[in-house]
Amino acid sequence: MIPTSTRMVVLRGRPGRGADPTPDLFAIEERPIPEMQTGQLLVRNIAMSVDPSMRGRLDLGEKHYTTNFEVGQPLDGSAIGQVIATEGGIPVGAVVRHRAGWREHAVVDAETVAVVDPDAAPVGAWLGILGQTGFTAWVGLKRIGELHAGDTVFVSAAAGAVGSAAGRFAKLLGAGRVVGSAGGPDKVRELVQHLGLDDAMDYRAESPRQAVSRLAPGGIDVYFDNVGGPHLVAALKNMTVGGRVALCGMISQYADNGRGEDINNLIEAVLRRVTIRGFIVRDHEDMRPEFEHTVTAWLASGDVQVLQTVTDGIDHAVEGFLGMLKGANVGKALVRLDPTWEI
Ligand code: NDP
Repeated sequence: MIPTSTRMVVLRGRPGRGADPTPDLFAIEERPIPEMQTGQLLVRNIAMSVDPSMRGRLDLGEKHYTTNFEVGQPLDGSAIGQVIATEGGIPVGAVVRHRAGWREHAVVDAETVAVVDPDAAPVGAWLGILGQTGFTAWVGLKRIGELHAGDTVFVSAAAGAVGSAAGRFAKLLGAGRVVGSAGGPDKVRELVQHLGLDDAMDYRAESPRQAVSRLAPGGIDVYFDNVGGPHLVAALKNMTVGGRVALCGMISQYADNGRGEDINNLIEAVLRRVTIRGFIVRDHEDMRPEFEHTVTAWLASGDVQVLQTVTDGIDHAVEGFLGMLKGANVGKALVRLDPTWEI
């Protein structure tokens, strides 16, 4: 039976300036599914991603890589779904990655989706380690961080989706020492005992400024920055001469509250001849084939594992999103929308 309406998460209002988003800003509504046109697919969503950049999209500012969410409209974001009706050349039954998350069914343009192979890796992995998450880690280390064998790498938000991928990939790509930061003792233990980092710090218990020089006594060659703020300041003070900072994201600065650590330390970048380079992963699509090829093989060999925190059901999607912003996730934060799928 082809459905004619679907449940979706709609934005009811924006957080006030400086306020954390709360569940009452979102509503679940049932709305009609638009009629499929030539070149389109009707997809039943299996799982969707919740991302830090969605925090920026709730406000009117520009702390994200795409568009602001609109009040009264459904949210969107990366999702994986199965084609249940087609006018677009991709057969019914195919599993596709697309941008119409936050709803149970979606009509999408066939030319904008990527067909993925659910037999090559679990579908969750195509949103996580084999998706934009892993690809971000790959680009940040290889192209932006110019990782060399033997380098010391520091990763912030190292137990998160991109961070855990970056830490693991750095080791596999030949880094000498890989250290990280995360919030809370459990995550720090996970980083060292299960994710193979050489050492880690709990930034809630110890200031990055104190901890970073202890973690990397010989200095940092590559800093993979997911959080900005005090971590970035601390890293700059500890870079080796010629070190590279890959500015991936700034979750500590996404709330539109005018607060945030000033970067008054840029003299450190001068003194240490540091390269600081921001990047947005979608500008580096030329690297995707080598990334998918290598990481699929690492998954098959067991060198890399799928690490994800799954929230079940669209009714709990907002919970999964707000929880991720506060660090409730280890690895990729996902919401499963179709309980019949293993992800
Ligand atoms: P994560 O899975 O890392 O989730 C966010 C994590 O951030 C939380 O788990 C929390 O972990 C940590 N966190 C929250 N607040 C703070 C804070 N104030 N200081 C330090 N850590 C904090 O998310 P992603 O892996 O999806 O994203 C990581 C970063 O990469 C984000 O900044 C994101 O915007 C960016 N990104 C950039 C892309 C690009 O193209 N440039 C593409 C994709 C992501 P904890 O418990 O450790 O605090």
